[in-house]
Amino acid sequence: MTVKRKIIDINEELCDGCGQCVIACAEGAIKIIDGKAKVISDNLCDGLGACIGDCPQGALKIVERETDEFDEDAVEKHLEQQKKAGPMQDTLPCGCPSTQIQDFSKETTCLSANKPVSLASEESALSHWPVQIRLVPPNAPFLKGADLLVAADCVPIAYPTLHNDFLKGRAVMIGCPKFDDKESYVEKFAEIFKIARIKSITCLTMEVPCCSGLPGILIKAMEKAETTIPLKKVVISNRGKIIEG
Ligand code: SF4
Ligand code: SF4
Repeated sequence: MTVKRKIIDINEELCDGCGQCVIACAEGAIKIIDGKAKVISDNLCDGLGACIGDCPQGALKIVERETDEFDEDAVEKHLEQQKKAGPMQDTLPCGCPSTQIQDFSKETTCLSANKPVSLASEESALSHWPVQIRLVPPNAPFLKGADLLVAADCVPIAYPTLHNDFLKGRAVMIGCPKFDDKESYVEKFAEIFKIARIKSITCLTMEVPCCSGLPGILIKAMEKAETTIPLKKVVISNRGKIIEG
C-alpha cells in the first residue's frame, strides 16, 4: 500500500559514492550501485534522515511523496539477511561484493587506551575494508587525510609484527607490483592523491627485485597528481627483518 510520507531523496549529480550514508543508515536502506548511493527499497527508509548529516556532498534530503509505507518487519528481515550474508553482501562502485566499505575503527581512544597491553597486542589493527589496491575506491572515507601504508602482498606474510609496527593508525592498501597492472596502480594512486589529502605514505616491500617497483609507482602517481607527499620506504628480508628504512 502506498501513502504520502517523508522519505530520503538522493541527488545523484552530487553523490560521489563515498559510502558514508551506507554506514550511517541503521536500517541498511542505502547501497552503493555503480558508484552512486541508491535506496534499495522505499519500505526500508524511515524518512527520519539520520543519514543526512553524514553526507559530505550535501546529496541527501528528505522529501514528501507518495511511496510504500515504512515497514519495520521488512527492515528486520533485511538486516538479518545482511548479517547472515556477512561482509560480502553489499557492493560498491566496481560491482565486486568484496569492496563493501567497512570501518572497524569505531572504538574510542579511551576504550583502547584502557585495554591491558597483552590483549591489545593480540588484536587486529586493521581499521577498514577493503585493502587490495584494486578494490579500494579513491573516495573511500578511510583514505581522507590518512597516513597511508602501501605494502606488497608478501610483506604481511613475511613480517611478523606488521600490525603493531606499521598498521596501527594507518589506512592500508596492498598489491603485487610484479603481477598486477602497474599503470592502473599509478592511475588509482594519482586519483587518491588528488582527492584524499594523504598526509604521509609508508611503502613496505620485500627485498626481492620485483618488489622494488612499488615506490616507483607511488612517485609516478604523485607526479601525475602534481603533489608531493612524504614517502618512507621500508624493505623487509625474506626472513622477516627490516633491512632498509
Ligand atoms: S532517512 Fe533513515 S532510513 Fe532513510 S536512508 Fe536515511 S538513515 Fe536510512
Ligand atoms: S554520503 Fe552522500 S556522497 Fe556519499 S554515497 Fe551517500 S549520498 Fe553519496
